[in-house]
Amino acid sequence: MSADFDASGQIAGRPRIAKAYPERGPLQQFRLAETMEFTCLRCHVTKRSRLIAPSAGDWSRLLCNGCYGELISQPSLEARPASTTNNVVADPKLSAANRNPTPLFEDYVLRMKRLPQDPDEGDVVNRQFLLGRYHAHPARRGTRPRRFDVYYAPLHGFQDQAKVVLIGVTPGIQQMLVAFREARRLLHQGAAAPGIYHLIRRRMAFAGQTRVNLIRLLEAVQLPQMLGLSGAGELFGRASSLLHSTSALRYPVLVNGANYTGHNPPIRRLPSEIRSYLPMLSDQLNGLPDALVVPLGPAVEEALRLIDFNERRVLTGFPHPSGANRGRHATFVRQRAPELRRVLGAASL
Ligand SMILES: [Zn+2]
Repeated sequence: MSADFDASGQIAGRPRIAKAYPERGPLQQFRLAETMEFTCLRCHVTKRSRLIAPSAGDWSRLLCNGCYGELISQPSLEARPASTTNNVVADPKLSAANRNPTPLFEDYVLRMKRLPQDPDEGDVVNRQFLLGRYHAHPARRGTRPRRFDVYYAPLHGFQDQAKVVLIGVTPGIQQMLVAFREARRLLHQGAAAPGIYHLIRRRMAFAGQTRVNLIRLLEAVQLPQMLGLSGAGELFGRASSLLHSTSALRYPVLVNGANYTGHNPPIRRLPSEIRSYLPMLSDQLNGLPDALVVPLGPAVEEALRLIDFNERRVLTGFPHPSGANRGRHATFVRQRAPELRRVLGAASL
């Protein structure tokens, strides 16, 4: 890229720069000499600010300070070349004006610190953590209208060394509680972003019986051997840097106040405001171009068909590991696991 510099060393045709901060992957933040009005590429809010970050050196694609901060807290930005991380700031399919901005951890620190020591559902499923509420009116007579609520939960960052990505539908209320409890505990111990992100996600990832089932299923397809582990349980402990666990809808979505399972309605029929959280998943997948992607159940497979992400190894046919699925697990281990073992054997992780 060629640039014309004027006598003071500034680049002609661009705002005067008072200070340039170190480059972070494809992003670099600048403090301008004067306040400038611009519309942020990512959150689409028109801002007046002196802090500005062009995406990949393009001064027609500007990020606000909040979005810049959120993006650089994702380690992939430093670990990957600019060509792959461009997806992080502009998803080609769903980056239209209705894309929801990623909530910022910092905005919730005080509220999380003030939670009771052992918060219950009423402490976290309430207005102070509500990101959005949407109503869907029935397409057919006789079906009742549905209310969709999206809540904040402290689920940020991602595991940039991951070799496996496990994707659920959306965090349930129990997972929300685990995440908030852990965030509160760590914040009171003085932990801070971004280090705190991984600790929270590791604790909440498929907690409880779901994790027990998941370990059994992953061992049935011999995933631990592929990764040089002695058991799948290590992915939730010693070898947790090899696992990125996430959700199609990263923030908890409740339907009429109950957990959303991905089926009623199917993900493609969710209100567009809810579906606009899906690009967060493509951002994460595009940041891990070599990882094996394991959608946990057909609803997540459907979500993957709705987003753009680079060609990669997707292990289909995996059942959702919840306890309600026991019968299907046995069938999977018997019928599908040998086939999946062949897929895995062909891929070199
Ligand atoms: Zn922004």
